[in-house]
Amino acid sequence: MPALSLADVYRARRRIEGCVTHTPLLASASLSRIAGTDVHLKLESMQPTGSFKLRGATNALADLAERGIMKVVTASTGNHGRAVAYAARTLGMEVAVCMSALVPANKVDAVKALGARVVIAGKSQDEAQVEALRLAGEEGFAFVPPFDNLNVIAGQATIGLEIMEALPHTASIVVPLSGGGLFSGVAFAAKRIRPDVAMTGASMERGAAMHASLAARRPVLVDEVETLADSLGGGIGLDNEHTFALTQELADSIVLLDEASIARGIVHAYREERLVIEGAAAVGIAALLDARVELKSGPVVLVISGANIDIGLHRRLIQEA
Ligand SMILES: *Cc1c(COP(=O)(O)O)cnc(C)c1O
Repeated sequence: MPALSLADVYRARRRIEGCVTHTPLLASASLSRIAGTDVHLKLESMQPTGSFKLRGATNALADLAERGIMKVVTASTGNHGRAVAYAARTLGMEVAVCMSALVPANKVDAVKALGARVVIAGKSQDEAQVEALRLAGEEGFAFVPPFDNLNVIAGQATIGLEIMEALPHTASIVVPLSGGGLFSGVAFAAKRIRPDVAMTGASMERGAAMHASLAARRPVLVDEVETLADSLGGGIGLDNEHTFALTQELADSIVLLDEASIARGIVHAYREERLVIEGAAAVGIAALLDARVELKSGPVVLVISGANIDIGLHRRLIQEA
């Protein structure tokens, strides 16, 4: 893996310092009891945009700004889009977020509230993406990918640094896994510091693109279906350059969680830890509750990746539990 170095991760940390939160590592009494070993939660749900994506986006934008590129574009309506909009405002850059005409008004407003220009284009996410790439090709915007980019991965890797510095004897880390930017970054930094740390990726059963790709030994397409872990949906890109190879090399195991299990994870976080977290962030807790992680002796860290759940959905899950 010569493309990424630990020096890149330290540089990312210097760049993003002051723009992102050094999140707490919370000891979980309830999960430690259940797992029979110390369990800690790395609370990326406490980032100002509600997810870790702010780290990668801030590092990628800071790198562009250093090279004099001050206009960025993305097509994400989710946590990546929010992160790019927020980071652009912090760094004084111009930002366009392309969205389809079908994106609900509350998501459009959330991005506008961060000061981004919203470009409505087409009737699907794919058509919005085409417009974003056109702006990149013809109008001098830099397209900021959500995961398959070395600056993004190095930004997410700063989470691995923070974990290993706070808890140097960490034995296992469980990381939500979709496109693999978060997993690759955290696993890269953690294993460079402590090679025997066990890295588990956790995805939902429905539409786990990285898991299917690892099984096929090449990036493959999966059907996108509705899931509580909506931030884990989407493919890894058939032309994946970095995260597929990094995940293949660094993952010790991958677990897939069903919808009922993810719901239990969300409810557990709320009742036992007083945390509101989204489905994608709950897969690690779900995996522990279902005894799906093979634990080594020593502390376990679960990366709690985000908080952005529809509050009505959250209320229903709590009431129905
Ligand atoms: C994007 C995201 C993930 C997955 O990150 P990848 O780098 O795509 O694997 C997990 N949790 C949340 C909350 C996210 O927004």
